[in-house]
Amino acid sequence: MSKKDYYEVLGVSKNASDSEIKSAFRKMAKKYHPDVSKEPDAAEKFKECQEAYAVLSDPAKRKQYDQFGHAAFSGGGAGGSGMGGFSSNFDFGDMSDIFDDIFSGLGGFGGFRQSNSRRSSKGPQKGNDVLYKMTIDFEDAVFGCKKDINIDVIDTCSECDGKGGFNSSTCSECRGSGTITQEQRTIFGTFLTKTTCPYCKGTGTVFEKKCTACKGKGKVKKNKTITINIPAGIDSENRLRVAGKGEAGSNGGSNGDLYVEFTVRDHDFYERVDDDIYVSLPLTITEAVLGCKKEVPTPYGNINLTIPAGTQSNDKLRIKGKGIANVSNKKKGDMYVVANVVIPEKLSRDQKKLFEELKKTTLDNSPEFRKYNKYLDK
Ligand SMILES: [Zn+2]
Ligand SMILES: [Zn+2]
Repeated sequence: MSKKDYYEVLGVSKNASDSEIKSAFRKMAKKYHPDVSKEPDAAEKFKECQEAYAVLSDPAKRKQYDQFGHAAFSGGGAGGSGMGGFSSNFDFGDMSDIFDDIFSGLGGFGGFRQSNSRRSSKGPQKGNDVLYKMTIDFEDAVFGCKKDINIDVIDTCSECDGKGGFNSSTCSECRGSGTITQEQRTIFGTFLTKTTCPYCKGTGTVFEKKCTACKGKGKVKKNKTITINIPAGIDSENRLRVAGKGEAGSNGGSNGDLYVEFTVRDHDFYERVDDDIYVSLPLTITEAVLGCKKEVPTPYGNINLTIPAGTQSNDKLRIKGKGIANVSNKKKGDMYVVANVVIPEKLSRDQKKLFEELKKTTLDNSPEFRKYNKYLDK
């Protein structure tokens, strides 16, 4: 059986660069890896690719191959290197970065990713952040306030100071490194893989006595009351970060943070639009026509407002600085008073008489009426 040309196997030219060969192999390995590929002869193809790559990625072997072809490696051939083929004792160590690459894109196969991610488990890790959702009243949002919240958070076990046990010593299985090296025999050869030490679970430390309070985890769920200082101007969907009040970290890592997300209840009278407040001011027909002085409520107390004669519904009056403080720059928004002229639906006999009198006068002299009359068929 004649062997396929290694360059052909990887689909590269005879003068391909090292990086071209590497990327070609990467592509092939992704395509034919037996864990991934659906093709029936994937295992065979994969082996072929590995063999080709092993030779072409090594400058000395590549040179031999270029000179003597497969004979260079077939034992007793012209090259005379005495290599006994690739079946069992090939060193795949330098391919690990390629495999990491392949597997990281595929969600973890065969424990490669797991052992990778666990490799860092010995170092300090920051605790998880915690999100707490909170609903507050409009006034509390306008003025700011203090609130106590009650949450269950993962905290450091106080019995064992987060260590998980008592009287620690260095793990003898991994000599404190947290990882052990295992030999894995596969049809492609022998791999050396690092995995988390099962004896100490990667910590490098074992205990004489396990902590019962946290079952060795070093962490326990604790109910805590945390006082939150809510700044004036907070709005719905704003998040407040309370540093260090999240879950406890591991191996000396810092705590995560607590995030409080707010929902501000709607107010019956005040309507918030960003940092401004809108209110609807009901006016009687005479107040609107003749003008008047009105007392208008604001969150900061009543103020007196002069309503000019001839005010229409939806006319807006701006009161500067009576809005809500911006939560970041503290600058206050404005308040807008929107006139709402209310037409009376029920009239006394006297009132009706007065309106009848008014009817005899000319009230339709404004531009709106003139425009309207212009388009009537005469
Ligand atoms: Zn160990
Ligand atoms: Zn404990």
